[in-house]
Amino acid sequence: MPVIKANAYGHGAVQVAQALVDADGFAVAQLSEALNLRNNGIEKPITIFQGFANAVELRQMRQYNLQPAISQDWQVALILEQPAKNPLDIWLKVNTGMGRLGFKPDAVADVYQALLCCNGVNQVALMTHFANADDPGHRSNQLQRMCFQDLLQNIPSMSSASNSAAIISELLAQQDWLRPGIMLYGGSPVLDQSAKKLKLMPVMTLNAQLIAINNLSKGDTVGYGNTWVCPQDMPVGIVNIGYGDGYPRMAPNGTPLAINAQKSQLIGRVSMDSLAVDLRGIHAQCGDTVELWGQQISVDEVAHQAKTISYELLCNVGRLI
Ligand SMILES: *Cc1c(COP(=O)(O)O)cnc(C)c1O
Repeated sequence: MPVIKANAYGHGAVQVAQALVDADGFAVAQLSEALNLRNNGIEKPITIFQGFANAVELRQMRQYNLQPAISQDWQVALILEQPAKNPLDIWLKVNTGMGRLGFKPDAVADVYQALLCCNGVNQVALMTHFANADDPGHRSNQLQRMCFQDLLQNIPSMSSASNSAAIISELLAQQDWLRPGIMLYGGSPVLDQSAKKLKLMPVMTLNAQLIAINNLSKGDTVGYGNTWVCPQDMPVGIVNIGYGDGYPRMAPNGTPLAINAQKSQLIGRVSMDSLAVDLRGIHAQCGDTVELWGQQISVDEVAHQAKTISYELLCNVGRLI
């Protein structure tokens, strides 16, 4: 089930759902995201990671054939007491070590039984989430894996454990549903391997335009805080994109970008709607396209420079379009 929460990591949830024709289902975080997909003709199973917040949302999930992931006793109680025309498929989230949403492992068997006996319930499946899948050697991965496998030995349900990093690291061999997110969009999910090495291809390209070229003198400064001081006479380009457009303000001097298939670097502080680029040795004129990330510039590299992860950069841009 491709994960298309947060507007498909900024790529457009409906477009991505329509593009992934072979998917067996999809996953989102919240009801509103699932309703948007249903309203746009997406009919496949949809899992909702955060489940429902109240009886009204639960009723809508039944009505639109959506599959909540639940983790709270009050959610079980609501399911049991709500008269149901349309039986639900439910995911029981198990906290095997992530410490976010999930029942305690020793509570799962009872909840599972209670739900299975309920008229308004069709299938109940188990899911869990790794906290350190991006670091495959981390000790907690094995603990979480064993905890989940132990549960499944006594509970004959469908299961799902792996996000992108866990898929790539093959942390859990046997499960019925995989939950890839970032890898679909071409970001590397693991710390020590690049997307290129993993043969993941970027989906998003973030472009802007060169709108000015200034020939500055040695000692001239660029941008807020004067954090760039020209070490020699040099041409400096101004590009019409900034943190107001989702480019990370924390990207420092030296962050890579590309102009006309030539690699260059960001200089000075990122402004709200512009940033500056080093044009030494670059052939460029005003109006040229500048790639901030995409085919030529890895979003992981920009994220690394800005001390964040590709997920955040992609989501930030996708909120604004
Ligand atoms: C977001 C999310 C995923 C997808 O994670 P990626 O690291 O993007 O592959 C999978 N499962 C759950 C529960 C999530 O919240």
